[in-house]
Amino acid sequence: MISAIEGWWSDGHTASRRRVRLARAGGQLRLVGIESGAEAVYLGLADLRLTEEVYRGQPLRLAHPDWPDAILTIEDHRLIEWLYDDAPRLRRRYLARHGARWRFAVWGGALIAVLVVLTLAVPRAMVLLAPSVPAAWAEALGEITVETLASNRSTCREPRAQAALEELVARLAAGADAPYRFTVRVFESPVANAVTTTGGHIVIFSGLLELGQTPEELAAVLAHEIAHGVERHPLKALLRDMGYRLLVALMAGDASVGADLVSEAARLTLERSHSRADEAAADELAMTLLHRAGIDSRGVARLFQRLVEQKERTTVPALLSTHPGLAERIAAAETRQRSGKPALTSSTWRAVRAMCGR
Ligand SMILES: [Zn+2]
Repeated sequence: MISAIEGWWSDGHTASRRRVRLARAGGQLRLVGIESGAEAVYLGLADLRLTEEVYRGQPLRLAHPDWPDAILTIEDHRLIEWLYDDAPRLRRRYLARHGARWRFAVWGGALIAVLVVLTLAVPRAMVLLAPSVPAAWAEALGEITVETLASNRSTCREPRAQAALEELVARLAAGADAPYRFTVRVFESPVANAVTTTGGHIVIFSGLLELGQTPEELAAVLAHEIAHGVERHPLKALLRDMGYRLLVALMAGDASVGADLVSEAARLTLERSHSRADEAAADELAMTLLHRAGIDSRGVARLFQRLVEQKERTTVPALLSTHPGLAERIAAAETRQRSGKPALTSSTWRAVRAMCGR
C-alpha cells in the first residue's frame, strides 16, 4: 500500500493551484484539497493520461478529458506503479526507466539517420545542381585548385610556347558555347596526363608533350579537356565526391574556402576518372570542336592508339587510368575523323614540345 502521494491541482480557470492528496476510490482517483475545504475532484483512471513524455527526474503532468483545462502535477513517480494496472494510458508516455541517456539515444539515432540520408542521397542530387552553379564560382574554385597543384610543381612558362597553347585552346573553345574563358598551364612532369579543373582551367603534365607525336594529337587532348569543361564534368564529379561541403565552399567564394577542402579538390582532380558516359560525351564534342576549328582530327585515334601501345610496352600512363575504355573510343574516333589543317606550325610545335626544357 502506497500512501500519502500528493500533488498540485490547477483547474485551468483560476490562477491559483491547490495542493491535493491523492487517494484511490474504485476506478477513480480522488483528489482532496489539503489546505482548502474545497470539494474533492474525481478522475476516472481509464482516461487519465500524461500530457507529455516523462523522463527520470521530471514531474508527472496528468490530464483528464472531464477537466479539459486542468493539470495535475505530481513529483512522486510511485504514482505510475500505484495506478499501473488500472490507468493504461498513463504508461504510454512514461519513459523514466530509460532516463536521459535513452532520450539522447533517440535523438542521436535520428540525427545519424538524417546525416546518412544527406551523405547518400544529397551528393547524387548535388550533381543535378552543376548546371546552375554560377560560372564565376566554378572559375574561382578552379583557379585556387590549379594554384594548389602548382605549389609543389614547376610551371613551364616559355612565352612563345605558352602563347601558342593559349591560341590553340581559344581556337578550339570558340567552337563551343562555353561559360568560361579557358586557360592552360603546363607542369613539368614525366607523367603524360591532362586534366581540367572546374571553371575551364586546363592543366597539362609535360610528359604528354613527349607522348604526342604531332600537334594534332595535342589538339585532340585539348579539345577533349575543353569538352569536359563545357559539359561541366569536373564540377559534377567534385559535387558528387564532396557533396554539400563543396557547395558551401563555392558559395563562400575563394577567400573563405578552407585549405583542406581545396587540397581535397586538387587531389580528386588528379585521381578521379569520369564516367564512361561523360567520356563518350567529351569525345563526341571534342571531335566537333576539332572540326569547327578546321583541325585534322585523325590525331584523336592516333593518340589513343599510342596510349594502348605504351600500355602494352611497360607502364600505364596516367592519361589512360583516368580515361578508361580506349578500344571503343578508338573505333568511335575513326568513324568520325577527317583530314584538316595542322593544329600548330612545325616551329611552334617544336617550341611547345621543348617548353619544359627537355
Ligand atoms: Zn576525359
